[in-house]
Amino acid sequence: MSGLYHQPPAHHPPEDILVSYAAGSLREPEALAVATHLAYCPACRRDSALLEEVGGVLLADLPPAPADTPAADGDGVLETLLSRIDEGSAEGATPAPVTANSLAEWGLEGLTIPEPLRSYIARTAVRTGWITLADGIEALRLDIAQPPAVAEILRMRPGSVLPTHRHPDQELILVIQGRFTEEASAWTGPGGRFSEGDLSEFDGGTIHTVVAGDDGCVCYRMLAQPVERLEAEA
Ligand SMILES: [Zn+2]
Ligand SMILES: [Zn+2]
Repeated sequence: MSGLYHQPPAHHPPEDILVSYAAGSLREPEALAVATHLAYCPACRRDSALLEEVGGVLLADLPPAPADTPAADGDGVLETLLSRIDEGSAEGATPAPVTANSLAEWGLEGLTIPEPLRSYIARTAVRTGWITLADGIEALRLDIAQPPAVAEILRMRPGSVLPTHRHPDQELILVIQGRFTEEASAWTGPGGRFSEGDLSEFDGGTIHTVVAGDDGCVCYRMLAQPVERLEAEA
């Protein structure tokens, strides 16, 4: 997968999240964000492979696991994720391969979307399709999050603004195409800038305004709880 993306990401999952990912203990919507970030990020791929190896060594000291437990092999978490959606979608049959057509249904066929997110969009996007969140901003829910958590693709038109909102709980957001910035404010300081492959965690309590770049922006995000829209200041 290396070499697909010219610039390595600037924003990475915090260490505790990467450790939980390698241990296979993240919930599916979070694991999906990390696994897809790894497709863009050689540094996190290396760290995660090392962590999975260390985890494998620690597990070797425990009593033997049942015979069908997969061995830790560096791709363990990604394979588990991919096999999970395959099981969910196809009742024992081999699922149809994910092609550009599977994404055309959602108007995403022009994008380079790495695995496992690509398969997740094709297999778990809700049939009701895109919903409008704000002027120029739409969301496509993925049916993998336990309410009140939300997993969704965000599509933002060039220069569109996600109005000021507060996160009551954690957000993980991964840029798939284009970029977004946080408007400078008392809350965010100079404001962050996030490009393709960047994975950011915003903690509960974060208040910010998000602006899409000149080419627009497509992201995957996981919200532990839905955001609260704040009134514009008078
Ligand atoms: Zn990384
Ligand atoms: Zn936000």
